[in-house]
Amino acid sequence: MRRTRSVSLLPPVIVSSALLLAVVVQDVGASEKPAAPPAKKFEVLTLRGRVVWLAEAMAQRHGVKTVPEAVTRVLALETAEGELYPLTEDIRGRGFRRDERLRKIDLELLVRRYYGVPVVQVIRAFELTSKAKLELDYWCDICAIAMFELKPCDCCQGEIELRRRVVDRDGRVKASP
Ligand SMILES: [Zn+2]
Repeated sequence: MRRTRSVSLLPPVIVSSALLLAVVVQDVGASEKPAAPPAKKFEVLTLRGRVVWLAEAMAQRHGVKTVPEAVTRVLALETAEGELYPLTEDIRGRGFRRDERLRKIDLELLVRRYYGVPVVQVIRAFELTSKAKLELDYWCDICAIAMFELKPCDCCQGEIELRRRVVDRDGRVKASP
C-alpha cells in the first residue's frame, strides 16, 4: 500500500525528464550513421518590392537605429507588406549598389534562399511597370555583350547602358523596348 502510494506521488517533472533522457540517448546512437544529404540546398523564390538599404528600412519600419557606418552596408528587398530580405552582395547584388536607378523602381526578383540562411541571392531582376515586365541587365552596343552591373565594359572599357527587355509571364524575352 505504502509503496504504491510513493510511486504515484513521483513529481511529473522527474518522469518527463527520464523520458527525455531516453530520447536523447537514442538520438545520439542514431547520429552515428552518416546523415543523408538534404535533397535541395536552396529554394527559388519570386519576390516583389523595392531594393532599399536595410538600415534605413529598419529605422523607418521598426525604429531601430543603426550605427553610421552600417547605413549603406546591406541591401535588402522590401516587400509591400514590409518584409525585408537582405541581398547577398555578389555581382548581381552589387548591381543595386552601383546604380541608384535600380533602387527607385518596382521590382520582381527571382532569388535563391539557401536553407538556414535569411539572405537571398538574386538570379534574375525584372522591372514591373503598369504595362510590362522588363528584364534588367547592362549592354555594350560595341561589343554586343551583357553584364550584370554598371561599370566600364568588360571588353572595350567603354560606357554600357541599362537594358530593359520586355518578357512574358514566364520570363522569356519578347522584344527590346
Ligand atoms: Zn564594350
